[in-house]
Amino acid sequence: MPVTVLFAAKSERWEEYEAPLRTALAEKGVTADLVTEAAPETVDYIVYAPNSGLDDFRPYTRLKAVLNLWAGVEDVVGNPTLRVPLARMVDDEGLTQGMVEWVTGHVLRHHLGMDRHILGQDGLWRTGAPPLAFDRRVTILGLGALGAACGQALARLGFPVTGWSRSPKQVEGIDCLAGPEGLDAALARADILVLLLPLTPETDTLMDAARLAQLPRGAVLINPGRGALIEDEALIAALDADHLAHATLDVFREEPLPPEHPFWPHPKITVTPHIASETRAPSAARVIAENIRRAEAGAPMLHLVDREKGY
Ligand code: NDP
Repeated sequence: MPVTVLFAAKSERWEEYEAPLRTALAEKGVTADLVTEAAPETVDYIVYAPNSGLDDFRPYTRLKAVLNLWAGVEDVVGNPTLRVPLARMVDDEGLTQGMVEWVTGHVLRHHLGMDRHILGQDGLWRTGAPPLAFDRRVTILGLGALGAACGQALARLGFPVTGWSRSPKQVEGIDCLAGPEGLDAALARADILVLLLPLTPETDTLMDAARLAQLPRGAVLINPGRGALIEDEALIAALDADHLAHATLDVFREEPLPPEHPFWPHPKITVTPHIASETRAPSAARVIAENIRRAEAGAPMLHLVDREKGY
């Protein structure tokens, strides 16, 4: 008997995902009716994006699991009508690879001072080689699928990398700190700070004025995590006071970032439009299909969200 898999995301996503999902389900040996509409009581799995319009799971009485298309789950994890397992997207081939490239690129931009030469084509012969990676300390807040991979890539380039997580960790090449007691030291050694934390009640506005003040003078902040990790006004104040040298921001409290937002014209802020890393349909489809296969076989599902922790 086929399982019914409801694809609940915007229609342009269906165009992107339909063929890869059909292929991946077939490759995993899952016989499925993959649909964009179905009577709720017939649905076994929902492939889900929070902006799909579906926010009441109660009519889905046969539902076995919800498979989030994205890595972040802050828009669905607290939904009281969701009573089945929730899996999030972890996709080494697509999402993680993309984030490693984006973070490495932006760290290198600031480390090498590339703007001086890319923007300074004005006839002045600016001498002085940049420091080596060994002399630039990078701290990554969040040592999960993305933070650990980015940290390891930077460590391979020679940067001394410190990572910070909730629970103690050992990640090769990274000096790992954990818990509230590890945060002060992690911030104090961040010449470049990268935020790869999920948004939860505990991480909301983590980088407020006091924590920004703990960064070394001249530090650079790079945020591909979530906009609400940072207090916007405090960030602007820290940049204006020359305490921070630059902020590269990919995520914002409101997206799209409104045209009148002061981040846009700020000379020390680079805005990128939530493009640090996208879920890539072919590899993400394989992750989703594998999870449905596992659930059907009674095997543990991958990348399950801890509803208590919120990620
Ligand atoms: P994971 O869940 O794998 O990792 C989260 C990490 O954050 C873990 O190391 C976790 O600690 C740590 N953490 C969570 N809460 C706390 C806390 N209170 N104190 C200290 N550490 C904490 O997530 P991913 O690496 O897959 O993704 C991270 C985030 O990146 C996503 O939630 C999403 O917001 C963002 N993202 C952004 C994208 C973009 O394009 N801009 C694309 C994809 C994701 P522990 O290991 O102990 O649990």
